[in-house]
Amino acid sequence: MKNEKQKTIKKPQLTEKQPLWEDDWLAKASEPGLPVLRFSPSAWAKLLYFRDRSNDEIGGFGVTDPDDLLLVREFVTVEQEVTCVSVTFDDAAVADYFDRQVDLGRRPEQFARIWCHTHPDMSPAPSVTDEETFNRVFGTCQWAVMFILARDNRTYARLSFHVGPGGHVLIPVGVDYRCAFTASDHEAWETEFAAHIHPAECFLTGRDDIQAAVEREGMDLAVSYDFLEEFQCLDPAERQLVLDELAGRPELWDPESEVMLL
Ligand SMILES: [Zn+2]
Repeated sequence: MKNEKQKTIKKPQLTEKQPLWEDDWLAKASEPGLPVLRFSPSAWAKLLYFRDRSNDEIGGFGVTDPDDLLLVREFVTVEQEVTCVSVTFDDAAVADYFDRQVDLGRRPEQFARIWCHTHPDMSPAPSVTDEETFNRVFGTCQWAVMFILARDNRTYARLSFHVGPGGHVLIPVGVDYRCAFTASDHEAWETEFAAHIHPAECFLTGRDDIQAAVEREGMDLAVSYDFLEEFQCLDPAERQLVLDELAGRPELWDPESEVMLL
């Protein structure tokens, strides 16, 4: 989990010399309550479809209305190479997506500020790679949102802004049934999935690979394989430490059967 510092809102310090861009909504939106990242039911359904269609991460952009920049009307993917721990957008595909959005009369803050991706495991916490990507791609935007949806529907949404001293805040996420929304379109979603999602070979086959990935990505891979065998070789004190650790991770256990979910 993130530390307390991340929950602190640092308001942008706009001086008179700085123009009040359309993104000025942010200063107003952060008072009195936190802004909420909302999804239209159709955007949310498509996001779930893409997540559940794959055992890899899937990424895309949230597209919003001009007057409600935190209401995601559409979830749009571009061509990308995916693994269980990463998403890499194709540069040309991103350029095409931007062109198409501009042709539709949309402004960048409507289609290029909300980065959504799914995690195939149960943790929505961003990996080190996610943080690097977010900083590299969105670090120069006045504001941007990193949104992550995990397999079990838990979410992570962080609104970052880069005016004045900058800052970020974790914000709540919801599905907004009050807005008008379209029906599901599995045929179109499947066509888009087939055209855009290209799994790359994942080399995480051995336990060393997995461990290296955990260290590199800051990932939480739950319980590694060969766990039970290794567990039996531990001395009693180490074994107790592992049990204490697992006791603090209720998501690893199925409450019905008390069987560990591996
Ligand atoms: Zn991620």
